[in-house]
Amino acid sequence: MINVLIIYTGGTIGMITDPETGALVPFNFEQITDNVPELKRLQYKLTVHSFDPLIDSSNMDPEIWIELAQLIERDYDKFDGFVILHGSDTMAFTASALSFMLEGLSKPVILTGSQLPINGIRTDAKENLITALEIAAEKRKGKARVPEVCIYFDYKLFRGNRSFKYNSAKFEAFRSPNYPVLAEAGVYLKFYRNDILKPIEGDPLIVHTNLDSAIGVLKLFPGITPPVVKAALTAECKAVIMETFGSGNTSTQEWFLDLLKQAIADGKLILDISQCKVGTVELGVYETSKQLKEMGVVSGYDMTFETAVTKTMYLLGSGRSNLEIAELLETDLRGELTKS
Ligand code: ASP
Repeated sequence: MINVLIIYTGGTIGMITDPETGALVPFNFEQITDNVPELKRLQYKLTVHSFDPLIDSSNMDPEIWIELAQLIERDYDKFDGFVILHGSDTMAFTASALSFMLEGLSKPVILTGSQLPINGIRTDAKENLITALEIAAEKRKGKARVPEVCIYFDYKLFRGNRSFKYNSAKFEAFRSPNYPVLAEAGVYLKFYRNDILKPIEGDPLIVHTNLDSAIGVLKLFPGITPPVVKAALTAECKAVIMETFGSGNTSTQEWFLDLLKQAIADGKLILDISQCKVGTVELGVYETSKQLKEMGVVSGYDMTFETAVTKTMYLLGSGRSNLEIAELLETDLRGELTKS
């Protein structure tokens, strides 16, 4: 019999309205099972681990990612797949973080949640939960069909570290603009085998739990002033994720480039990712990014912001030198980036 572990962290899926404040707050797992009698009809054994306290995912924290990774590590041999119920707000960050923390993963870790609570008449929660469980249980020739960290939402399965929350009003909450969907649910569950990661046979699961969140962010806009850039680049952190224009371009004003050079000379890693959701950073294509390449700015290629943050946390936590980290940031580790 197939065994699936459901890890319930909170999120809208199980929320109810607090009678005192009128705000949505997470509720216990019975709220979910009472509303989905179909769970009893599934052909596999479900085990539930509920977080205490349950959280709105806006309160997500690297400490909780460590707890999640350790839970999966502890029960890895006991289960065929894992479903994590999670708020949608930061789901893409958690999925990205877990993809780096769970090296050598050969079983499905499927994150899902919903836009409406499960007790709502028009809820999207039931479909998301039931299909996520089916995907987590799905095998082909005795092996997991999707041996990677994914997000299942609104009939689509995405690679976790390629997705981001793009809509807070539609059931179609997630997109993965730089990588195709891994599966679609219609009358049949259709898996796109060629796009799914293939684990190396015999590779063990290695769980990384050292994360270093000493990261800053600098989002550029025309008119940004020297004090603001300086504050971002001199903040107490080890790496700055710089959100740039188009294919990784920035202003070429001298004061701006000097501040960047100084930050690099001070030992900071500067990772360039684009404000565009589709496409990739190509340092050196335009004059406005040529100098960035020369001074040692690291290319984030087509990584999402969520992946840039969590991959940097994972690499900073690994104790490697800046040179090694820069090299690995530009390397595809878990299917999170494409170099064209
Ligand atoms: N605020 C909620 C959360 O992320 C939203 C959701 O679950 O969709 O926990």
